[in-house]
Amino acid sequence: MESSEVLIVGGGPAGSSCAWKLARHGVDCRVLDAQNFPRTKLCAGWITPEVVRDLEIDIRDYPHRFLSFDRLHIHLLGLGFRVNGVQHSIRRFEFDDWLLKRSKVPFVNHNVRDIRKEGEYYVIDDQYRARYLIGAGGTKCPVYRTLFRNANPRAKELQTVTLEQEFPYDYRDGGCHLWFFERGFPGYSWYVPKAQGYLNVGIGGMASQLKHRGEDIWSHWENLVLRLKRSGMVYDGSFDPKGYSYYLRSDVCVGRVDNAFIVGDSAGLATRDLCEGIGPAVRSGLMAADAILSGAEYSLAAISRYTSDRSLVYRSLEFMFIDRERKRLARADVAV
Ligand SMILES: Cc1cc2nc3c(=O)[nH]c(=O)nc-3n(C[C@H](O)[C@H](O)[C@H](O)COP(=O)(O)OP(=O)(O)OC[C@H]3O[C@@H](n4cnc5c(N)ncnc54)[C@H](O)[C@@H]3O)c2cc1C
Repeated sequence: MESSEVLIVGGGPAGSSCAWKLARHGVDCRVLDAQNFPRTKLCAGWITPEVVRDLEIDIRDYPHRFLSFDRLHIHLLGLGFRVNGVQHSIRRFEFDDWLLKRSKVPFVNHNVRDIRKEGEYYVIDDQYRARYLIGAGGTKCPVYRTLFRNANPRAKELQTVTLEQEFPYDYRDGGCHLWFFERGFPGYSWYVPKAQGYLNVGIGGMASQLKHRGEDIWSHWENLVLRLKRSGMVYDGSFDPKGYSYYLRSDVCVGRVDNAFIVGDSAGLATRDLCEGIGPAVRSGLMAADAILSGAEYSLAAISRYTSDRSLVYRSLEFMFIDRERKRLARADVAV
C-alpha cells in the first residue's frame, strides 16, 4: 500500500490548487484522477480577476491561450447592456493541465471507487492511504458520495444542466456575450472567445425548472444556434454539443468531516448568480490546504455565494435561478 500525508481525489482547479499550496509547504501529497491530463473539461473557461490573484498567476508567464475582456455584453429581454470590468478567458484543456503540473505533486491516473477509514488513515481501493483526504472529484466525487452525502446533501433546485461546444474558429466578434432568460429559459447562454482563434458557445440552466415546464435543454440549444447564425456571430459549421451537470451553492456549509474535506464542485460551490465554479473551486482548495497546514478552520461560509458584487444583480439572478423554484416546490409539498 502506498502512503502519503494527503490524498487528493481529482486534479481539476480545486484539487490542483490544494496540491499546489500543500507542496509549496513541503507536505507529502499526491493527486489521483480518473482521467489523464491534459483532459477535456466541459466549461466556458471564463475566469475572474480573483482567480488569477488567488493562484498568483503572472499572466505574462502563462504559456497558453489567455484573453482579457474589459466588459461583458449582457442581453436581457431583447435589450443590450455593457457591464464594464476586466474578465478573462482560458481553455480548460490547457489551464487545468498547467495548474496541475505547476503544483509539482505526483499524479496517478486512477479511478477511485472504494473509500474506507482504517484507524487514522483513509484507504482507497486497498492501494493508497493517507491521514488527510481531499474530495475534489467534481459532481461525481466519490469522497462526497461516501462521506458527505448525509452531512451536505445537494438540493434538486440547485442542479444545473448545460450543453456546450468549444472549437477552433476565426471569430469576427471578439467580445464576451451572455443572453439571460431567452424565451423564458431559466438560465443563460454564452459566447466566449478564446485567444488565438478558439470559441466556446453554450447554455446552462436550472434542471428542476426545465423539468417542471416540460422542456429539455436541447430546444434552447437550437435557439442559441439560430441566434448565433442569424446574427453572423457563428456563420458556418454544424454543432455536436456535450452536456454536464453541476450544483450551485446550497445553504449547508459542512465541508469537513474528521480529516476529510470536500472542495469545488464536489461540495457544490458554484455561485448562485452567475453559476461560476472555478473561483470557488480554487478558493476552497486553498482553504483546505490552509486547514491542513495551520489548523485553520475550513468553513464553506467563508466562500462567497455570488460572483457579482452588485447586490441588485445577484439578488435578481438568484431569484430567477433558485428562489422561484424553491417557492414552487414548497407549495407543491403543501399541496401533497
Ligand atoms: C458547460 C459548463 C460551463 C461552465 N463555465 C464556467 C465558466 O465559464 N466559469 C466558471 O468559473 N465555471 C464554469 N463552470 C463550472 C466549472 O467548470 C466547475 O465549477 C469547475 O470545473 C469545478 O472544478 P473542480 O476542480 O471542483 O472539478 P472538475 O474540474 O470537474 O475536476 C474534477 C476532477 O475529478 C476527477 N474525478 C471524478 N471522479 C473521479 C474518481 N472516481 N476518481 C478519480 N478522479 C475522479 C475528474 O476526472 C476531474 O478531472 C462551467 C461548467 C459547465 C458544465
